[in-house]
Amino acid sequence: MTDSTAPLADKDARILVVGGAGTIGSSTALHLLRRGYSNVRILDVYPSPSGNSAGNDLNKICGNDRGLGIWGDISDEAWEGWTHDPVFQPYCHSVGKLDLACGDTPRAAQLRRKYNLLQSLGRKDVEWLSDGDAIKRKAGHLADANIETWNGLWCGEGGWVAAHDALDSVGRELASLGIKTAFGPSGTFVSLLLSEDGKTCTGVKAADGTEWPADLVVFAAGAWSPVLLDLQGQCESKAWIYAHIQLTPEEAEQLKGIPTMYNDEYGFFMEPSATGLLKFCNEFAGYTHYTTATPFPLTEPVRISVPRSHAAHPTDTIPTESLEDIKRLIAKTISWLSGRPLINQALCWCTDTPDAQWLLCEDPRWKGLVLATGDSGHSFKTLPVAGKQVVDLIEGVLAPERKHAWRWRPGHGDPNGTGRGGPRPKDLADVPGWKHD
Ligand SMILES: Cc1cc2nc3c(=O)[nH]c(=O)nc-3n(C[C@H](O)[C@H](O)[C@H](O)COP(=O)(O)OP(=O)(O)OC[C@H]3O[C@@H](n4cnc5c(N)ncnc54)[C@H](O)[C@@H]3O)c2cc1C
Repeated sequence: MTDSTAPLADKDARILVVGGAGTIGSSTALHLLRRGYSNVRILDVYPSPSGNSAGNDLNKICGNDRGLGIWGDISDEAWEGWTHDPVFQPYCHSVGKLDLACGDTPRAAQLRRKYNLLQSLGRKDVEWLSDGDAIKRKAGHLADANIETWNGLWCGEGGWVAAHDALDSVGRELASLGIKTAFGPSGTFVSLLLSEDGKTCTGVKAADGTEWPADLVVFAAGAWSPVLLDLQGQCESKAWIYAHIQLTPEEAEQLKGIPTMYNDEYGFFMEPSATGLLKFCNEFAGYTHYTTATPFPLTEPVRISVPRSHAAHPTDTIPTESLEDIKRLIAKTISWLSGRPLINQALCWCTDTPDAQWLLCEDPRWKGLVLATGDSGHSFKTLPVAGKQVVDLIEGVLAPERKHAWRWRPGHGDPNGTGRGGPRPKDLADVPGWKHD
């Protein structure tokens, strides 16, 4: 058994990061290089920023509003990275964040508790917004919105990050630090290579037959993780939706600097891009896509939710009900844009654990394999520091409570749960309007 405090790799070890052009993978590679590991190679289906990465879109919500505990600390560390690290800082828009509920709901009570907690920690940037008028004073663009009964939390240390551009920045930094890469068929994971006794991971076999030997493999394939490697039901991959409106330059100017707005029943949007694209996401339980696959080391196919990426299937559409949800969000909040064409509609894939904690641990089945997945839909905001956790694990210095939270835990919690509360997700096969070849 590995001594829990002994490092899993030397600084000159051959380290492969599967999914290294995605969010957690590229962050891992960055932290490995920054700590002096000299022989690191990222493998991915697409070059950085990977077209299959859940992080490869216009923008993501970001903010330092988790308070205490593991995620409070990670949110603090990540916000420091977003606002001070030159690789990330240019892509962070600290315009403030509104986390809103529709009235006297359980979500409002939860937000109120969060507000009380943040205030007790001495945070001066948070405010409780008790009604629609208070919200409108923070967010002038919602002046005509029909949100009288809404309430919620204002957090000044928050806003949004330019997601594609930030991932691209990490990729460029990796290149300048001398990362080795394999993209395309030679970087596409097919299986692990194992020692003769089957107990040690000795590398990765790629789709074109290339065998990459390694002393340590970090497996960070996002929504593809449970499809490529048998994770014994610990992760379930699901799609969420986004669509955009193309604004005129005048409209974009009007919405410049608006705070990010999230509502748990309607969805969210944030400041438009420099090119005037305004992205909308509805909020719901996600969609599964159950079909069959044979994750390593299984030999027979199993029924599992398999991502179907927009990069590989650009003509796929989104379900009608999601489109209607997005129209409802627009009508409720920013109705002067109702009826405008919704462009660049896409499914975007994450993988949920039942308790929304990462699966970040040594794989107990094979020495030399570290899992870094189970993003549970909240991981882009951790881009500056997600990889730090992985490298801490590799170096045997990850805090015990983090190790425990992110441990290998098959059968833990409800394996059929959504991982985010709410109803069981629908399957894409059962929702009208989703067109695919
Ligand atoms: C619509 C939507 C909105 C979201 N909004 C937010 C938000 O506002 N804030 C936030 O913090 N988070 C948000 N998220 C969640 C966030 O995007 C994810 O949690 C995060 O990007 C997942 O990171 P990851 O590294 O696990 O996966 P990814 O970033 O998807 O990386 C996985 C990588 O694995 C690669 N890969 C796949 N198969 C193989 C293979 N066979 N071989 C090699 N490589 C492979 C992929 O190409 C990809 O690069 C959102 C997600 C969605 C879908």
